[in-house]
Amino acid sequence: MRHLFEPRLVNDAFGDPGLYVDFRDERRALLFDLGDISALPPRKLLRLSQVFVTHAHMDHFSGFDHLLRVVLGRKENLVLHGGPGFVAQVEHKLRAYTWNVVHRYEVPLVIDARETAADGRGLRARFSSRSGFTREDGAPFTLPDDVLHEETAFRVRGRFVDHGVPCLAYAVEETARVNVAKDRLAALGVSTGAWLSVLKHAVLTGAPQTTPIPMRWRDRQGEHAATRSLGELQHLVLDVAPGRRIGYVTDLRHTESNLEALSRLLAGVDILFIESVFLDADSAHAQRKNHLTARQAGEIARRIGARAVVPFHFSPRYQHRAPELVAELRAAWAGTPQPPAPATA
Ligand SMILES: [Zn+2]
Ligand SMILES: [Zn+2]
Repeated sequence: MRHLFEPRLVNDAFGDPGLYVDFRDERRALLFDLGDISALPPRKLLRLSQVFVTHAHMDHFSGFDHLLRVVLGRKENLVLHGGPGFVAQVEHKLRAYTWNVVHRYEVPLVIDARETAADGRGLRARFSSRSGFTREDGAPFTLPDDVLHEETAFRVRGRFVDHGVPCLAYAVEETARVNVAKDRLAALGVSTGAWLSVLKHAVLTGAPQTTPIPMRWRDRQGEHAATRSLGELQHLVLDVAPGRRIGYVTDLRHTESNLEALSRLLAGVDILFIESVFLDADSAHAQRKNHLTARQAGEIARRIGARAVVPFHFSPRYQHRAPELVAELRAAWAGTPQPPAPATA
């Protein structure tokens, strides 16, 4: 079945981390992390509606300037999400430039920056080119759970992992996909009409099974009308398939609490993009640097039941040894016995 979006790493596994999630049928995309994004052409950057930053180390945030330069004067809105301190970091980036003419641009740009803490409390601020990107604070908010952004067709969730600093791991989840079974519709003696959109919407938004769905359709005999319950119609005329789920996990230590956070966020995920920075032979170094080894990444993928896994964020020290990192991750994901790794804290 056709998917709503297609995820792709921005750079090769040795380049800066970043995941571009393209919505095929809409002129829009999401970006996870904002490091070196020069590989993305301007037309792809102009499609971005939301950018989700894991943490503000340079390899995850230094591309802010590049993005700003491309969208300025050409794009009206951009929403940026991050962890604690993120709104101030966006503000400082913007204050590093002189903006004496930007208020005259024909296409004004509004940047909406949002940050969330581990307890769900959040801050937001707007920065408009019309006012030289002066910070305008919005009302603080509290998220009831880990959903950072939600629309009818998909949502983005985030949970914190420990990287020496708080770092967000993300999940992008397509809402269940609903298709009309045309043959069963015909067998029922009814035809398509606007009522099918009402039915689909009710199913996607989780309306009760007893919700009445007024049906109107037209055929050679003329106009018809009937009312049936959502529960009845759903099984008669729709095929519902679970939506695809994608995980983006980078920059974290190998700890039990990180594993638990990832299990809650990503259990059974369809595709897991996960950092695999060091070989397991260098696990003591990985621990000091607050990163995972390829083996640890594979074990996490196995533990959460990832159906596919894509490693990235390789350390430059393995420039010609990428196949070893990939093999180590895949063996751990598959559960192939490996020599025991040195104990980690
Ligand atoms: Zn990094
Ligand atoms: Zn980092």
